Amino acid sequence: MKTIGLIGGMSWESSLDYYRIINEEVKNRLGGLHSAKCILHSVDFHEIELYQRRGQWEKAAQIMTEAGQGLELAGADFIIICTNTMHKVADQVQKGINIPLLHIADLTADKVLSDGIETVGLLGTKYTMEQDFYKSRLEDKGIKVLIPNDLDRITVNTVIFEELCLGDIVNESRGKYKKIIQELIEEGAEGIILGCTEVGMLIKQEDSTVPLYDTTILHAIGAVEYALGR
Ligand code: GLU
Repeated sequence: MKTIGLIGGMSWESSLDYYRIINEEVKNRLGGLHSAKCILHSVDFHEIELYQRRGQWEKAAQIMTEAGQGLELAGADFIIICTNTMHKVADQVQKGINIPLLHIADLTADKVLSDGIETVGLLGTKYTMEQDFYKSRLEDKGIKVLIPNDLDRITVNTVIFEELCLGDIVNESRGKYKKIIQELIEEGAEGIILGCTEVGMLIKQEDSTVPLYDTTILHAIGAVEYALGR
């Protein structure tokens, strides 16, 4: 079994889910007392969020790269960055290390395509929804990506940073998300990508009439498959 290096803490609420899912998946596949070989580098999200908001992506990239280098030195065979947003700097991080980085959007796209879905709605931070680094990764594989309108994007982003990243699950926000998901479906989305690693804390499959693609689950399971060489 390969050792998984996780760059987490963005937020730690979702890193908990990664740790749990990765270990559950190893147990499911190998049975008995098996658990995942992994190393977690958890950052201070306050710093990262500030760099995101100020557009200082270089500084955030440096923190990610140094974390990746530390994980490599500590014995990780490959790394995952446990957030969609910070994949904005994934290429830079990959250049700074000698082990593979498993990209969250690639694993998500593979699942969407294997389900025969061509058009998805994308929910995530404003960076993930509005900038190109994430959408283009999906579009390059032939997936059409719909994002919520201006006001709805503000709602989605605010709920992520002011509630979910603080561990607050608010019923009213679930209602707002469900409405936004329904609008995306009416525009043609055949599936919805929960493109933020905390959204799965709020939204479950029963909240949508089309398949949901929870990036935390897909990324964590993809890491296990890679670790087990499947
Ligand atoms: N975890 C979130 C994501 O998947 C947001 C936190 C961040 O801005 O990194 O994008």
